Amino acid sequence: MWDAEWRERTWEQLHAPWDLIVIGGGITGAGILREATRFGLRTLLVERADFTSGTSSRSSKLVHGGLRYLKNGQIRMTYESVRERENLLHTGRGLVYPLGFLMPSYKNDKIPGWIFHAGLILYDLLAFKWAHQRYPAQDMQDRWPFLRQEGLICGYRYFDAHTDDARLVLRIIQEAVMDGGTALNYARVEDLLRRNTGEVCGIVLRDQDPACSERVVEIEAPVVINATGAWADEMRNMIGGHRRLRQLRGSHLVFPTKKVPLSRAISFWHPHDQRPVFIYPWERTIIVGTTDVDHEENLHSEPCISAVEAEYLMVAARYAFPPLDLNLKDVLSTFAGVRAVVDTGKEDPSKESREHVIWQEDGLVTVTGGKLTTFRVMAQDALRAIRHLLPGHPPLNRKHRMLEDPPLEALLDIDLDAPDRLRLLGRYGMHAPEVVAASERGELESIGDTHALWAELRWAARSEAVLHLDDLLMRRQRLGIVAPKGGIPWLEKIRTITQSELGWDDSRWQQEAEAYTQLWHQCYSLQSE
Ligand code: FAD
Repeated sequence: MWDAEWRERTWEQLHAPWDLIVIGGGITGAGILREATRFGLRTLLVERADFTSGTSSRSSKLVHGGLRYLKNGQIRMTYESVRERENLLHTGRGLVYPLGFLMPSYKNDKIPGWIFHAGLILYDLLAFKWAHQRYPAQDMQDRWPFLRQEGLICGYRYFDAHTDDARLVLRIIQEAVMDGGTALNYARVEDLLRRNTGEVCGIVLRDQDPACSERVVEIEAPVVINATGAWADEMRNMIGGHRRLRQLRGSHLVFPTKKVPLSRAISFWHPHDQRPVFIYPWERTIIVGTTDVDHEENLHSEPCISAVEAEYLMVAARYAFPPLDLNLKDVLSTFAGVRAVVDTGKEDPSKESREHVIWQEDGLVTVTGGKLTTFRVMAQDALRAIRHLLPGHPPLNRKHRMLEDPPLEALLDIDLDAPDRLRLLGRYGMHAPEVVAASERGELESIGDTHALWAELRWAARSEAVLHLDDLLMRRQRLGIVAPKGGIPWLEKIRTITQSELGWDDSRWQQEAEAYTQLWHQCYSLQSE
């Protein structure tokens, strides 16, 4: 699909007539591209950097119903999120997995256990299932002896789900492209075209491939959607829109499982400010998150965890698991993301609403906020808002599958364990058999202790629109987060497999390897290292 020539080909075809241009290649843009192509609209998605390089690869990776919205009486929103979670679990097997949560209840907790229990009953009812359970204190002590016991009253189990956020976005984009959509990464919108009336009618697009940065084209379309997340105000600013968004950073610490032997998620209240904290297994690591602070740094630099945030999360982890004696030196990696919320000036950032918004200003449609889990709801709301501008007024309904059925039978004869097979199907969908077919001897083995296979690197380098090494190691694969030292010790082997697929000479490889190493040390590890 994205072979060696696709980028050139795509630039040559940008003058095709479009019904819709989507700016931003995160989950919001991907969802809109997917839904729009499903309804036969000629849709172009453009992304300034790599697909999903914004917030959508830096989320907590939970596909969740939003239990905490219940506390604010937002039942419709919880219902919607729970339904989307169930749908993703159903159609995204191998990519979206159920995740059991345990919420210990302590004396002096902000929310008494019985209120939480009532919330869980409602949560289950909204999902049409009965999965929550109460554990008495003794049971909790027997099963999770490393958990804080002081003041423990009981515990509650409930279920949500987790995913690989970057792969989810990529799969949605790939399925949209197979359905006739066009998506281009490393293509930045540097201005908006306007009619005499002032209405937006297109974009000015600049190539971000260092080899072609002089390439600029103007592209017209009756509808332009701004799905640039935390950058949405920048785009609105091009047509004189005033600042409406507040950028909040959430950061995470990642531990190796040998330091935190957890097979399910734990959620509890932070001892300092009573914010919810989650500690959960993900891709053979343990993630602790998240913070919620105003992001005052330059939005065009990679977001990083601050020392204060690292300490805040460390306090939480030590509080939850006193016997594990956790230390900042145990941290495997870190990552941070920035979300956009509508700025209402609340003192506590966590009190700002997480709901998505759709604004139409001078023909520019901005869709932002919301969450990964509800991408389809956002996409359909956006298309509904602009439907009157679209040729033929396409019908919108949710009766179709969110993700296409992968070819289960195609991998049956492959010498892989069933969970690995399922994982390939989930991550690569229709392309899973090609990933296996492209593999060379020994490449169907795991990379170190991670779930990833060497073959996935070859496939991604060959066919997944990789332009820089961090595209490959941070988002096509997640070695930057899950591997010791971000996978840097394996760079020579990675080079053997991928350099020729990428078409890079030795000096380009060297340059990319140095840039990746620097990026990892600056933004994905603790700076004290
Ligand atoms: P982004 O993913 O940021 O995409 C916007 C894209 O626009 C970027 O890739 C950017 O490069 C591109 N862009 C910007 N300017 C231009 C331009 N000029 N031209 C072209 N492209 C441009 N949700 C959940 O459901 N579950 C979770 O567990 C969860 N955890 C979260 C944890 C944190 C810390 C944060 C911050 C959010 C979390 N969310 C979660 C919310 C979810 O991650 C976000 O709502 C979602 O990723 C936003 O997606 P987006 O596509 O709107 O923005």
